[in-house]
Amino acid sequence: MYTEFGDIRAHAAGRMRHEAMDVGAMPAVGDWVALRSPEHSGAGIIEAVLPRKSSFLRKMTGTKSVQQVIAANIDVAFLVNGLDADFNVRRIERYLVLSMESGAQSVIILNKVDLCESLDEVVDVVRSVGGDTPVHVMSALHESGMEVFQKYLPPGTTGVLLGSSGVGKSTIMNVLLGEKKQEVKEVRDSDGEGRHTTSSRELILLPFGGLLIDTPGMRELQLWGDSESLSDAFTDIEELALECRFRDCSHAVEPGCAIQRAIGEGRLDQDRYDHFLKLQKEIAYLERRRDVRAQLDEKKRVKKLTSKQKRSPKRR
Ligand code: GDP
Ligand code: ZN
Repeated sequence: MYTEFGDIRAHAAGRMRHEAMDVGAMPAVGDWVALRSPEHSGAGIIEAVLPRKSSFLRKMTGTKSVQQVIAANIDVAFLVNGLDADFNVRRIERYLVLSMESGAQSVIILNKVDLCESLDEVVDVVRSVGGDTPVHVMSALHESGMEVFQKYLPPGTTGVLLGSSGVGKSTIMNVLLGEKKQEVKEVRDSDGEGRHTTSSRELILLPFGGLLIDTPGMRELQLWGDSESLSDAFTDIEELALECRFRDCSHAVEPGCAIQRAIGEGRLDQDRYDHFLKLQKEIAYLERRRDVRAQLDEKKRVKKLTSKQKRSPKRR
């Protein structure tokens, strides 16, 4: 934890752990906290988490649909993609929904430009899904096009590199760190094959003053959006839908459907629309689960209250 006294260890006050109704209330990477300063050389105690400007949430593993804050107060989310065989524009759409949900500014990074033969075409496609989101092309391997990070991450701001494995996040981080290269240590996995892991440091101070969050958890983000963040990422579809003849148009067979017309005329990509429908379904499912959970929590709370009343000694 960075403090005015330097880098110290701290843990959450026991009270906080008990009071936290959901795990989202516990401190996460990037949080600003109220800290009781360490007595002597011991660990500090986190008394409260200050309100978050933005937060990246993840559905906790397991069957319960509980949210976990993976990182908080991120100003800029860099959605990193590799312009190699693995390039996938649908994945960009997915990450956009996530970062719109978080409240952070999104920036699309197209890395490995040295491997791309049809750059203009790809950039056009990316812009068509990204809307107003800035798009930057670079090659981390050749250390070119990387000045943009300094522009987006002035001192006091925090960014995060999001993207699937292999797109170049560690390479970018290493170039940004320059001389202070990230510690890369050899770990032996069960296969006996060497594997690189990045250092466990999760909040990394860059030479030009900005911070980058690098947590393993951010790498396998699952969708935890709501219908609003979906609309933000697909404004073109939302706008088209407003032009449908019927207000409750299902965009399937109705006459005067602006979405079907746009697909027919090639103004809306069928794959993009299909992906939108898929994400919409996923989000509707998550929202239902959240509602059910909220009801269960409320039931539990009421039950706890009433059983407390029963147990409390009677006054005379
Ligand atoms: P991460 O899993 O997102 O952290 O990806 P890495 O940084 O480990 O990069 C995966 C592979 O892509 C490595 O072999 C890198 O050398 C390579 N790579 C990263 N950036 C570039 C680039 O700009 N051009 C090319 N050709 N390869 C790159
Ligand atoms: Zn319609």
